[in-house]
Amino acid sequence: MLPGASVGIIGGGQLGRMLAGEARRMGYRVVVFDPDRESPAAALADRHWCADFSDPKALAEFADAADVITYEFENIPAESLAFLDSKISVSPSPEILRICQDRIREKAFLVQQHCPVAAFYPIERAGDLKKALQIVGTPALLKTAQLGYDGKGQAEVAAPSDLEIAWRQLGEVPAILEEKVSLEAELSAIVGRSATGAVTVFPIPRNFHRKGIFDYSLVPSGLDGKLERAAGEIAGKIASALGLVGVLAVEFFLAVGERLLVNELAPRPHNSGHFTLDACITSQFEQQLRAIAGLPLGDVSSRGPLLLRNILGESWVRGEPDWASLLSLPGLRLHLYGKKRPLAKRKMGHYSVIASSMAEAREIDARAQAILRLDQDM
Ligand code: AMP
Repeated sequence: MLPGASVGIIGGGQLGRMLAGEARRMGYRVVVFDPDRESPAAALADRHWCADFSDPKALAEFADAADVITYEFENIPAESLAFLDSKISVSPSPEILRICQDRIREKAFLVQQHCPVAAFYPIERAGDLKKALQIVGTPALLKTAQLGYDGKGQAEVAAPSDLEIAWRQLGEVPAILEEKVSLEAELSAIVGRSATGAVTVFPIPRNFHRKGIFDYSLVPSGLDGKLERAAGEIAGKIASALGLVGVLAVEFFLAVGERLLVNELAPRPHNSGHFTLDACITSQFEQQLRAIAGLPLGDVSSRGPLLLRNILGESWVRGEPDWASLLSLPGLRLHLYGKKRPLAKRKMGHYSVIASSMAEAREIDARAQAILRLDQDM
């Protein structure tokens, strides 16, 4: 599928917007499907289908307008995706999305592939709670199987007596009980795979979270090269086992004792991979496009060191942030997603700082945080 053809994106958030930007740069047409009239990607699209994700007429029209379809949003109804896939190729495949949408299926897949994961036990009904405590113990986390993100749909289980209450609080829906590991670091591998089986892994970022939400990344990670290579190999193995066509993010925990564990998978570009827009010859979005278009995958080498930090709605508490001061900082690139309402915890944008050393990148980042008031407690 060559430039001039039309890329269909389901979901119009910031990931869709960045993909649309890269696709347009490369001469593709872009059509977006999202029920929100003001979705960030719609502003960059040639056409926006503003309809419910299960509206068959709108889905059929959208499929007719696209030459290939991908998604940036994981909670698409399975029937809608199957309907689209019956008309036109959807990549990554609906089966991959089905696995990644559900923590129970995802863990089963990872275990089947002999990928290291934290101890866990699936909970489908009340009768599973006791066994889960026997297998996993405490402290643990209870995570809903579906619809959880940024720490939502999770509850701490500090002591065995907390589990039943936590399960009730989460609505008695299918869930997993997962060992709470002692984290030394978190990292992620963004893997691209083409239909011909070529695999690339971007440089591995080390990621830091704040209150369950991604906060910032460092590239290079500063961690042992052996661990980075192991993470890259696991990501490549997962992509091949899934028959991935596109880009997939593998989130890892590094637990005490050098235990590298797979946390979760996302069959799409990832927040921790946004650094590729500024530091790599090929961005994660261009790689997604190349993969789904059947083109050769691009060079993933990067320059750096780089620090990337999210900008959340909290930066607007005292009005519009001082962008001019921010943009006076050397080596800083600003990305804003065009979201109208700066709500608390909403991802409004990010910046990356490329410097000659990580110490210098950190120093510029400290000045940027002060300007954006990111150093204050949220
Ligand atoms: P998740 O939505 O599963 O990616 O979890 C969000 C964040 O919560 C992770 O990035 C970790 O910082 C933390 N977290 C999740 N699961 C665990 C765990 N099993 N042990 C320790 N921390 C965790």
